[in-house]
Amino acid sequence: MSVLIFIDTADGHVKKASLEVLTYGAKVAELLGTTSEGVVFGSVNEDLAALGKYGVKKIHHVNNVLLNHLDAQVYSKVIAQVAEVSGATVIVFSNNVDGKAIAPRLSVRLKAGLVSGAVALPDISIGFVVKKNVFSGKAFANVSVNTSVKIIALSPNAYQTVAGEGTAEIAPFTTVIDTVKVKVTGTTKASGEVPLTEAEIVVSAGRGLKGPENWGMIEELARSLHAATACSRPVADAHWRPHNEHVGQTGFAIAPDLYIAIGISGAIQHLAGVNRSKIIVVINKDPEAPFFKAADYGIVGDAFEIVPKMTEAIKKMKGVV
Ligand SMILES: Cc1cc2nc3c(=O)[nH]c(=O)nc-3n(C[C@H](O)[C@H](O)[C@H](O)COP(=O)(O)OP(=O)(O)OC[C@H]3O[C@@H](n4cnc5c(N)ncnc54)[C@H](O)[C@@H]3O)c2cc1C
Repeated sequence: MSVLIFIDTADGHVKKASLEVLTYGAKVAELLGTTSEGVVFGSVNEDLAALGKYGVKKIHHVNNVLLNHLDAQVYSKVIAQVAEVSGATVIVFSNNVDGKAIAPRLSVRLKAGLVSGAVALPDISIGFVVKKNVFSGKAFANVSVNTSVKIIALSPNAYQTVAGEGTAEIAPFTTVIDTVKVKVTGTTKASGEVPLTEAEIVVSAGRGLKGPENWGMIEELARSLHAATACSRPVADAHWRPHNEHVGQTGFAIAPDLYIAIGISGAIQHLAGVNRSKIIVVINKDPEAPFFKAADYGIVGDAFEIVPKMTEAIKKMKGVV
């Protein structure tokens, strides 16, 4: 019996979301009186053994160039093989884009119950019950998983990463890889310095900005806070900003520590993607804007006056003027 954790990478680097699932998976293993193991695919440019500090004891490295790009069908097949070797009874993913593609396929392959969007450790005093978000974060459901193998996809930013001491054993895992059906012919990188789904701070703007030419001040504020930039859907639909910045019900769902919403009304479909943010700051010139109801802090006023002043104050505070 073990807990197997999928370690997600991008360009050979371990994603922040993977550190969360490593910490979470180690804790699940502790609850079950067992140990946690990891599985990682393709070329990795990091010291995998050092991930032991997040509690993982052993990492199965399937180092095959065919696995450098995500193909969820191939990945799920290989994870099933690793799960069998490691005797995994619980398999943990981040509920990020990759996890959402792989976990359901693995669930079917292993006939394993899947809880996606988990926000807490399983309660094993009453079986195996996992709390998860439902209705776009408006409510929680406690899901009881009764299958012999259980899969959890943890919401990004729902579980605090904790680094301690330790080194993981690296175990090379070789297997025959099926012909990869998905061929990556090119990639277009998101323009921001901080990836949106991994960002601790997000500066987001909406139609109140009037046009794409006014995003300079949003980017400057984001830079001053080392934040990612985001936008409302109409802004992406109008091509003022790229679609990979669109947050909400039909865009990315994010849960940063701080979400700053500028010139966004706070429609329910927008809130669906950001309401798990730990602190929400709203800047809007309309005191009746619905977003203020969801805000921890609000500034009523013109974004064109407030944002440059905020950036200046932050830079001064950080001593970078
Ligand atoms: C099925 C469906 C799915 C949807 N999915 C999404 C989604 O995923 N994400 C999403 O965002 N939307 C989504 N929408 C659209 C959503 O309903 C809203 O229309 C949209 O969020 C509004 O965008 P906005 O707040 O940028 O624009 P607006 O509603 O036009 O609001 C602009 C705001 O800016 C303020 N403002 C104007 N000038 C200034 C100024 N100078 N300074 C400060 N504030 C100012 C205004 O007071 C206003 O509150 C969806 C809609 C549907 C029907």
